[in-house]
Amino acid sequence: MIYTSFKKIDEVGRVVLPKDIREKIGLRLNDMIKIDVKNDSIIITKAEHTCVFCSKISGLKSFMGKTICEDCIKSLNNT
Ligand SMILES: [Zn+2]
Repeated sequence: MIYTSFKKIDEVGRVVLPKDIREKIGLRLNDMIKIDVKNDSIIITKAEHTCVFCSKISGLKSFMGKTICEDCIKSLNNT
């Protein structure tokens, strides 16, 4: 199913994702999204796995059932 919505981009590049779209894909306050660009399209996906400390979505490892990024692992090792 394709859902179409038209929105204006503001002066600093922001766009509001409509509430019904956020609810449809289960996006909630402070969730992270992944933005991909393919040709002339922008694909926004809910980031299912994020670092428990900083919410990054890249360089992730699993530790004791939690997801943590490499930068936070380094920070923990330096404490
Ligand atoms: Zn992190």
